[in-house]
Amino acid sequence: MKIKELFEKKRFVFSFEIFPPKPTTPLERIYNTLDELKGLKPDFISVTYGAGGSTRDRTPQIAIDVKNNYGIESLAHLTCIEATREETCDLINFLIGNGVHNILALRGDLPQGQSAPKGDFRHAVDLVSFLREKYGQAISIGGAAYPEGHIECEDPIKDLRYLKQKVDAGVDFLITQLFFDNELFYRFMERADIAGINVPISAGIMPVVNKNQIERIVTLCGASLPQKFVRILHRYADEPRSLEEAGIAYATDQIVDLIAFGVRGIHLYTMNKAHVARRIVSNVSTLRETMHGPKGEEALYEGR
Ligand code: FAD
Repeated sequence: MKIKELFEKKRFVFSFEIFPPKPTTPLERIYNTLDELKGLKPDFISVTYGAGGSTRDRTPQIAIDVKNNYGIESLAHLTCIEATREETCDLINFLIGNGVHNILALRGDLPQGQSAPKGDFRHAVDLVSFLREKYGQAISIGGAAYPEGHIECEDPIKDLRYLKQKVDAGVDFLITQLFFDNELFYRFMERADIAGINVPISAGIMPVVNKNQIERIVTLCGASLPQKFVRILHRYADEPRSLEEAGIAYATDQIVDLIAFGVRGIHLYTMNKAHVARRIVSNVSTLRETMHGPKGEEALYEGR
C-alpha cells in the first residue's frame, strides 16, 4: 500500500527508520534487527540512503526485503544532490519493479569541500517535481520537514515557504527532523497550518540511548536541547545503562504528549536498536490503539 493511502486509512501511523549496515558489516545484521522489529507491527519501515555512497547500494535491497520478505510497507529514502535524472529513474524503476512504491525524496548534504550540487537537482523540490511528472500516482512521495528550521536556512519563514513549495510539487506526507522539545513542534504545526501545508506530518522521535549520539545530533541538525534533557545527559552520560533507561523514558514521554496533541504519526529513529524500539512501543501500546477509537477522531480535529 502507498503511504499516502495508509494515512488516509489510519488515524495514526506508527513507523520506524532503519539504516543499512556499513559495507564492512554483514548485511545479515539488519535482518536480525528486522526479525525483531516485525513483531512490533509498524505501519511502515523507512530505509536511509547513505550520504557519500558508502551504504547507499544496500538501501534498495533492504527496502525491497522489508516489503517482500517481512510483509511490511517500505519507504526508500533517496537523496538527489549528486544524482542524475537517468540514475534516479534506474533506481526508481528497480524499486517499483520489486514492489516498493514509496520514496522519501531528499536533497541530502553536500560532501565536505563541495559548494554546489554535481547532479541534475539542486533542492529536494526539484526531485519531487521530477518524480511526480515522471511517475504520476504510481508512487507515494514523502519529504523532510524541520520543526526548528533547516540548519542552513537562517530564516524559518523562508524555510517554511520552501516546504510549502515542496508539498505543492507533489509531496504526500512529511516526516520531521528529530526534536526534543514538543512545544517547538506544536509551534511549527501551527505555522504549517497557516502556510496551507495540509499533508499529514509525522513526528520524528529519536531515543537518545548512548553518549556518541549526543554530539552528532547537536552538530548535524542543531536541535534545541531543553534543560530537562540536558540534565539527563549530564547526569547519566557515563552510565550507559542509566542513560538508556532515561533516553527511553524521555522518548516515551514525548510520544505520550504528541499522541495527546493528536499527531498523525510517529516516526521512530530506531538507530537499528530493536530492543529500544520494543520498550518504547510497549510503553505506548494502549495509546496507539486508542488513537483509532472516537478519542482519536476528536484529536484529529483538535490537533490536526
Ligand atoms: P531541501 O528541502 O532541498 O532543503 C535544503 C535547504 O535548502 C533548506 O535550508 C531549505 O530552506 C533550502 N531550500 C529548499 N528549497 C529551496 C529553494 N527552492 N531555493 C532556495 N533554498 C531552498 N540524508 C541522507 O543523506 N540520507 C537519508 O536517508 C536522510 N534521511 C532523512 C530523513 C528525514 C526524515 C530527515 C528530516 C532528513 C534526512 N536526511 C537524510 C537529511 C537531509 O538530507 C538533510 O537535512 C539535507 O540537508 C536537506 O534535505 P531536504 O530534503 O530537507 O532538502
